[in-house]
Amino acid sequence: MTPTIAATLLTITAVTAYGIACWVIPFGTCRSCKGTGHRPGRFARSRLRPCRRCRASGRRLRYGRRAYNYLAKVHRERSGGTQPTTELARLRDQITKGGLS
Ligand SMILES: [Zn+2]
Repeated sequence: MTPTIAATLLTITAVTAYGIACWVIPFGTCRSCKGTGHRPGRFARSRLRPCRRCRASGRRLRYGRRAYNYLAKVHRERSGGTQPTTELARLRDQITKGGLS
């Protein structure tokens, strides 16, 4: 096995493993607040304020899942999308397309 083939197989394995990890566990711990959802205040360090990065949830969407969601959205938009199932979604679709005035 040449080093090129080995490196290619290793890369494919790593990308596949990361893709499966993003599919099974789409959310990771927020690095800004370390999963607590709160950050120390800017002036009063003992006073906690909600984390803006994760909107106080303590979790963030992983980069791989974010990329998957974006690509899925682009695919949906280019393929015409799915038909709205609920009445509210149908009305919203009509309003955005200008069919309802
Ligand atoms: Zn956070």
